[in-house]
Amino acid sequence: MATTHDVAVIGLGGMGSAAAHHLAARGLRVLGLDRNGPAHDRGSSHGGSRVIRQAYFEHPDYVPLLLRSYGLWERLSRDADADLLTITGGLMIGPAGSRTVAGTRASADRWGLPYEELDAADIRRRFPAFTPGPEDVGVHEARAGFVRPEAAVAAHLRLAARDGADLRFGEPALSWAPTPGGGFRVTTPAGTHTAGRIVLCPGAWAPGLLADLGLPLTVERQVQYWFAPRGGTGPFLPGRHPVFVWEDAEGTQVYGFPAYEGPDGGVKTAFFRRGTACDPDALDRAVHPEEVDAIAAHLAPRVPDLPGRFLRGAACMYTTTPDQHFVVAAHPDHPGAVVACGFSGHGFKFVPVIGEILADLAATGTTRHPIALFDPRRPALRGGPAAPVPPDPNEVAP
Ligand SMILES: Cc1cc2nc3c(=O)[nH]c(=O)nc-3n(C[C@H](O)[C@H](O)[C@H](O)COP(=O)(O)OP(=O)(O)OC[C@H]3O[C@@H](n4cnc5c(N)ncnc54)[C@H](O)[C@@H]3O)c2cc1C
Repeated sequence: MATTHDVAVIGLGGMGSAAAHHLAARGLRVLGLDRNGPAHDRGSSHGGSRVIRQAYFEHPDYVPLLLRSYGLWERLSRDADADLLTITGGLMIGPAGSRTVAGTRASADRWGLPYEELDAADIRRRFPAFTPGPEDVGVHEARAGFVRPEAAVAAHLRLAARDGADLRFGEPALSWAPTPGGGFRVTTPAGTHTAGRIVLCPGAWAPGLLADLGLPLTVERQVQYWFAPRGGTGPFLPGRHPVFVWEDAEGTQVYGFPAYEGPDGGVKTAFFRRGTACDPDALDRAVHPEEVDAIAAHLAPRVPDLPGRFLRGAACMYTTTPDQHFVVAAHPDHPGAVVACGFSGHGFKFVPVIGEILADLAATGTTRHPIALFDPRRPALRGGPAAPVPPDPNEVAP
C-alpha cells in the first residue's frame, strides 16, 4: 500500500528508533520501516547491556555528544517510564601508555571530566575481582555504567507510535531513490512509499542499502558471553564491581559488566573488536566451544573468578569504518536524505543524541551538534589518515 509522509525512517534499530521518536515528537508525519520485528536480536542492538562512559579514549570530540546523550538517556527513562541507564562506575585498565588508559585520561582532561587514577595495588584493593599485573594502571570514572539496548529501542518506538509514527515491521526497504519533484520513493514488498525526506539507519545492512556512498564498511560477527563466576556473583554485583575495558600489551581489549541480572544471571563479557567478517543475512549465531575457551583463557589471569561455568552466548554485529568513527551526515548527493551507519562497535551509548541529530538534519538540514568527525567524505574513508587526536593538555612536553 502506498503512503505519503514527511519523513521515512529506514531501519528501526538503535539509531532509527531514536530518529523516529525525535521526528514524531516534532510533529512530523513519520513512516518507519524495519525488515525485522521491534527490538529484535538480528542486528546490532541486543544482549541486554551496553557500556556507557563519558571519558572517551576513541576521540575527545565524542565528549560533547556524550554529555548531551546522558541528559537524553535520563529524559527517555522518565518519559518512557523505563529503567534504561544504570551508573556503576567504570574502570579502564591497561599499561599507562595504552589507548584505553591514556586516551581516556586525555579526553577527560580536555573536557574537565572527573576521574581517579589507580595503580595496580589500588585496583586490587578497590575491586578485588581484578588481578592486574605490575604494569597495569586504571582510570576510574564514577559516571560510567551501562544502558539497556532492547528496552531503549522499545521505549523509543513506543514514544514514536504515541506521537503518531506509522511503524511497520517485517517490511524491508528494497530500494530508495529521489523523486523528480523533490522527496523520495521507497520500494518494499508491500508497495511504494513516498516521503519528503528519508533517514537511512540500516546497521549491518548499510553496505547494501547505502552502496552508492562507496563506504569501506566491514560487517563483523562479535560474540557476547555470560559466565557464572567461580564462588558466585557476590564480588561482581553492581556497587562492588564496575563496567570495565582492559587492554593488554598487544592492544587486545576485553570488557565486562557487573552481575546486573542478579545472583543467577551470570556476568557478561566480550572482546572489543576481535570479530570476523560476516554476511548479515547468513550470520553464524552458534557460539563455539573454542570461542568460549579463548575468552576464558584471556580472562583467567585478569579476572580469574569470572570465567567459571559458561552459561550462554549471543552473536551480534559491528559495522566498522577504517578509523572506527561513525558516519552521520546528510547524503552528499541527496541533501534530503540523511545517513547513519558505521557505528564500529561503540554506538549504542549515543543512540538518543544520534536520534536528535538525525531529526535535526532531516527537519532542518543542519544540526548544532559537532559531527565533523562523522563526515562520509573524510580522508580516512578514502584511504587517507584518521583525524588526529589532540595532545593531552596535562602531558608535559619532553
Ligand atoms: C556485541 C556488541 C557489543 C556492543 N557493545 C557496545 C557497548 O558496550 N557500548 C556501545 O556504546 N555500543 C556497543 N555496541 C555497538 C552498538 O550496539 C551499535 O553501534 C548500535 O547498536 C548500532 O545501531 P544501529 O541502529 O546502527 O543498528 P541496528 O540496531 O542493528 O539497527 C539497524 C536496523 O535496520 C534494519 N534494516 C536493515 N536494512 C533494512 C532495510 N533494507 N529495510 C528495513 N529495515 C532494515 C535492521 O533490521 C535493524 O533493525 C556493541 C555492538 C555489539 C554487536
